Amino acid sequence: MIPDYVICLECESPVYVFEWEDGKVVEAVCTVCGNEDPETFATEDQMEALASDRRWDTHDHG
Ligand SMILES: [Zn+2]
Repeated sequence: MIPDYVICLECESPVYVFEWEDGKVVEAVCTVCGNEDPETFATEDQMEALASDRRWDTHDHG
């Protein structure tokens, strides 16, 4: 299933023009920051997974 858009991890902007293959981004260009590395784009689902999986965060509030 192809997502409607992917998110640029450099500036967190949605990018609607991209190439999708084998369940991942193979080509995309962010018009906001100029990023064009397909490794640095994620789907909304992937972003949510990253946001909720913060095991590496410390909760040090004194
Ligand atoms: Zn960007």
